[in-house]
Amino acid sequence: MSKHLTAGQHALLESALVQQLHQIDRRLAEHLGGVSRAEHARGVLLQDGDDAPQREAEREIDLALADRDTASLGEVSAALARLRAGDYGLCADCGSEIPFDRLKVEPWALRCVACQGAAERRGHG
Ligand SMILES: [Zn+2]
Repeated sequence: MSKHLTAGQHALLESALVQQLHQIDRRLAEHLGGVSRAEHARGVLLQDGDDAPQREAEREIDLALADRDTASLGEVSAALARLRAGDYGLCADCGSEIPFDRLKVEPWALRCVACQGAAERRGHG
């Protein structure tokens, strides 16, 4: 267990991550399931391609949302793995302890505030 987190904080963050994981899972299933169901219905109702651009745009949005959820799913499950492995809560860049107050808001945070800011200025995440 990370030294700067109490057992209670650890448990709280773990349940927050698990909850987040379930939420994303459900949303992802809705996006992907929703696309094919809706498309199938529209394909049956409208045999010609009059609304193809509209349909294409809606599909793009669904896929973009699904992409974003897939990315967060990776972040959240990686955080959960770190938590269970015991190397959770340390900044990936400078190795300093990420304060509980930050983890409470963003349990999947990979960096401390300073390094996260620097990474964003560099154009990553
Ligand atoms: Zn850092």
